[in-house]
Amino acid sequence: AKVRVPISSQNDELTQLSLMFNSMLDQMQGYIEQQQQFVEDVSHELRTPVAIIQGHLDLLSRWGKDDPEVLEESISASLQEISRMKSLIQEMLDLSRAEQVEINFKNEETDAWELGLQVFNNFRMIHPDFTFVLDNDLKKDTMVQIYRNHLEQIMIILMDNAVKYSRERKEVHVSLSRDSKYVQIAVQDFGEGISEENLKKVFSRFYRVDKARSRDKGGNGLGLAIAQRLVEGYHGKLTVDSVLEQGSIFRVTLPLMNKK
Ligand code: ADP
Repeated sequence: AKVRVPISSQNDELTQLSLMFNSMLDQMQGYIEQQQQFVEDVSHELRTPVAIIQGHLDLLSRWGKDDPEVLEESISASLQEISRMKSLIQEMLDLSRAEQVEINFKNEETDAWELGLQVFNNFRMIHPDFTFVLDNDLKKDTMVQIYRNHLEQIMIILMDNAVKYSRERKEVHVSLSRDSKYVQIAVQDFGEGISEENLKKVFSRFYRVDKARSRDKGGNGLGLAIAQRLVEGYHGKLTVDSVLEQGSIFRVTLPLMNKK
């Protein structure tokens, strides 16, 4: 229920004051709702990195620590997730503050082959009930112009969605390819799909096709909006093709580094 100051019918100073109070109350109500949304957003976005770190620590505590290779890989993967969480937190703070989100687009390059493989393996680990298929046409050192954490964040958003909206066929295909100028990362699922009228809307902030179900799966309608901002900030494109009840394919295209 909204808190309100009753307005008298007279047009006196007291009425003016009451109107002012009410508009202040409305504004405060808005802030409170934004804050609640923010808390939900942060929790949602942090869930995956936390699950990945937990998976690695779990592996280490059971037998992984005795295998030097697993030990090293798990530690480095966990450190990477922590660094990603840090930039995520910063971005969520920015998101909560203003419409105009300041993302710190960094002038860096990332090995798409290596990062693609890493995210793919992480998902295999945290979703053992899924079949993940990787079609990797890239070679090592295929450098794209994007900050590593940002590329990882984009891939995680798409793969998280592929898993979330998969329905009974628990299968996700990832393909990495390139042409002379661009690298393409495609994430495909065989789940619920998106209707034509919803295809454009899914990239809007807080838009969810099925609010109840998405919320149920920890969704807030923010993932694709963030992914698109990131991709476009690095002069790439994020597109989707989907058929209702058959599945979706999201494609990220990012510019290759110029060979020196
Ligand atoms: P959410 O946190 O709700 O998943 P997103 O911005 O990532 O937010 O996605 C927005 C909406 O787009 C989702 O609520 C869902 O309805 C739809 N969507 C996203 N990815 C898929 C997918 N792979 N298959 C079907 N629907 C999807």
